[in-house]
Amino acid sequence: MASSKSKQSFLPPHFLLFPVMAQGHQIPMAELAKLLSQNGVKITLITTPQNATRIQPLLSQSPLIQIIQIPFPAHQQNLLQNSENFDSLPSLHLVPQFLTATSFLCSETEHLFPQLSPKPCCIISDMALPWTIQIAHKFNVPRLVFYSLSAFYLLFMANLRDTDFGEKIMAASDSELISIPNFPDPIQVTKSQLIFTLDPVFLEWGNQMAKADSASYGFIMNSFDGLEPTYLEELKKAIDKVWCIGPVSLCNKDTKDKARRGNKAAIDEQECMEWLDRQEPESVIYAALGSICNVTAPQIIELGLALEASNKPFIWVIRQTKSTEKEVENWLAETEFEQRIKDRGLVVRGWAPQVLILSHPAVGGFVTHCGWNSTIEGISSGVPMVTWPLFADQMFNEKMIVEVLRIGVSVGVEKCLRWGVEEEIGVQVKKEGIRDAIEKVMSGEGEEMRRRVRELAAIAKAAMEEGGSSHLNLKLLIEEIMHQADSVQPQKTF
Ligand code: UDP
Repeated sequence: MASSKSKQSFLPPHFLLFPVMAQGHQIPMAELAKLLSQNGVKITLITTPQNATRIQPLLSQSPLIQIIQIPFPAHQQNLLQNSENFDSLPSLHLVPQFLTATSFLCSETEHLFPQLSPKPCCIISDMALPWTIQIAHKFNVPRLVFYSLSAFYLLFMANLRDTDFGEKIMAASDSELISIPNFPDPIQVTKSQLIFTLDPVFLEWGNQMAKADSASYGFIMNSFDGLEPTYLEELKKAIDKVWCIGPVSLCNKDTKDKARRGNKAAIDEQECMEWLDRQEPESVIYAALGSICNVTAPQIIELGLALEASNKPFIWVIRQTKSTEKEVENWLAETEFEQRIKDRGLVVRGWAPQVLILSHPAVGGFVTHCGWNSTIEGISSGVPMVTWPLFADQMFNEKMIVEVLRIGVSVGVEKCLRWGVEEEIGVQVKKEGIRDAIEKVMSGEGEEMRRRVRELAAIAKAAMEEGGSSHLNLKLLIEEIMHQADSVQPQKTF
């Protein structure tokens, strides 16, 4: 008998994880780490010192997880030394430079890899780190790509690469509706909704990602089999190995776990829960636009006015940035906003414990920017959504929420924001548009949406339980990687 094999079987399998340093990427990746470790996998997660501090609270209960810190090579792209995360960049137009700087972590990791014990049997890389394929090749381990995106969007991106859709949309006017080819549902988009996706800088990065993906072993997705089955089926025609293992945020079972994801919350979790306990079931609107939202101060104010005009209890999360904070704070003080809404509104300046809030029975509607994590967190909490996409895949997530799943109402955004030039749009969505969408979701009209999203929430929860589809997919993934540990199979081109 091969003694090395029998020896190996007593050691836990060891996976190496590379998150992108942005909350919408590193939180779900840390949750994936937690799920893998609960299934007996040893995890080494590579990140930078500031991000390690942020991830640590989420992983502190998991003895099989170690975080290795590598200093962020900010100087390689003339970024400020403390710019270790998308949310600490002075402007989002620096993201391409930031991503290029991450590639300088490659040689450090190559030095580190031989010291890891037991030898990692795979690399799980964030989608936006194509350079991790070099490490996989060098050490002959499979690379798996983690996508916290929908199959719906990935299928669109595959179509953009493989059909003449890109040329068609470039030749169209800004507002002309063009049908997406080879899509299970009749979905149309305009050029204005795609200006972010069609930006040459991101298209080039996307090409590099696709190249690395085509040499990778498979995709791990923060989605679940019952959510978008027809899109998953189509995606699997282009890519052989796809494991849906989400919604990963459901790995957080108790209040503390739900509250300690990401940054330290700007509101005391107990105070927040007590406030929600005092509200009627399904009466509260939770409004939050993600971890890197780039709306202007006048647009933030418009949202506050809409929440006030809704006459419903609400929690309003205001992301604080250097460019908006002063103007918004002055407005809050001058108009005595908090005084006016004190009986039914809670303003959170900074980080909110989103999953904890969404899972409270008092929450009845979610005003969201449709980031994929927020979308799937809203779905798993059974909360209908008011959709306000800002950039990237968010326009597509809105279409999925409103047109395919029919669990939300749009505020009517017509144009995608571009990173670094948000001011060109100013106030895009008026108070009345937001208020009307809230009214639809919270009134009788929203009942059917509520019923549908509750059904999806039940399917999501069942998927994550012992024997559920995501739970089984995760187990199958671990088993397959353990068997493949010594041979890297190139993935079919995607
Ligand atoms: N999040 C949070 N509190 C906040 C802002 C964001 O917990 O105040 C979490 C949210 O639950 C989600 C992630 O940060 O898991 C944001 O990811 P998403 O894809 O929704 O949007 P992004 O921030 O990447 O635009």
